[in-house]
Amino acid sequence: MSEDFFKKLPKVELHAHINGSISESTMHQLVEGKQITYNPASLKFKKGETGTLKEVFKLFKQIHEVTNNEKALYKVTYDVIHEFAEENVKYIELRTTPREELSTGMTKTSYIETVLKAIRDCAKENLDIIVKLILAIDRRQTLQVAMDTVQLAVKYREESKGVVVGIDLSGDPNVGNADVFIPAFKEAQKHGLKLALHLAEVPAPEETMTLLQEIIPDRIGHGTCLQPDAGGTRDIVQFVESHKIPLELCLSSNIINMTVPGYDNHHFKFWYDLNHPCVICTDDKGVFSTSLTEEYSVAADTFQLSREQVWELSYNSINSIFSDDNTKQLLRDKWKTLKDNVQNH
Ligand SMILES: [Zn+2]
Repeated sequence: MSEDFFKKLPKVELHAHINGSISESTMHQLVEGKQITYNPASLKFKKGETGTLKEVFKLFKQIHEVTNNEKALYKVTYDVIHEFAEENVKYIELRTTPREELSTGMTKTSYIETVLKAIRDCAKENLDIIVKLILAIDRRQTLQVAMDTVQLAVKYREESKGVVVGIDLSGDPNVGNADVFIPAFKEAQKHGLKLALHLAEVPAPEETMTLLQEIIPDRIGHGTCLQPDAGGTRDIVQFVESHKIPLELCLSSNIINMTVPGYDNHHFKFWYDLNHPCVICTDDKGVFSTSLTEEYSVAADTFQLSREQVWELSYNSINSIFSDDNTKQLLRDKWKTLKDNVQNH
């Protein structure tokens, strides 16, 4: 299969952090004229490089210094949407943790409004991509902060007429215990928000099982350590399988931050073989020097997927989006229209 096939393939991206998705070109433009002591090229991993989770999260801290004001955040969001649209991503759910920056006067409210404005402006340009937003809770935060994020998500879902669709839990998986956020997740569910939680990125069977049973998330981010041979349990696998909770799988991200030893060992195979809903995603295309096109290509190469299987993988991702049935149908129709043209590459 040619690279052209993977690029032309219409795709759905459901796990992309705005700040981690910044391309090198955007980063260069942002650091120009800023008092930043490091080289923008050092804010990402080059091909073949790996780093510990600690190193990865240190990188995010540095990126946040660059995106600490509304103007930069607008540019990042705008550019990221255009970059995904260029590689034929037709539907994307971006995610981000609302941040306040005392030094620049950015507030959580202005943060969210800036992101939504960039999304609106892209829509006005008639790009062939539908963009939704998930607000993230960071594991380092308190329950009160998490509750505030849920309230903001409820408010901005109304104001954005449905652009905000859900809540995420992310951040360093070695920090804190996610159980404390259960009341916030329940509050989100009460208001009809969907939940896409980073779960079991590192072995944490008790936390994982508690969260699964208490809230039944709508999607799981990574799920690296759900299965017994990766530090999970048979019960966890059975729960995820019987509830058909889709997994957002980000191959390169897991290899680079060394939570999975190699592509061959990636848990994609385990779940794909079970016929479980799996969605290929990028996580942080900027930091991990990848694209959704590349992730599909790597998955196909590693697990010897046929052209038809790759097509199905992308097509079935539509089932896992946090949008209504009309949007799902619209996307399915689009895929069908594009099929002949793409399959000939
Ligand atoms: Zn992530």
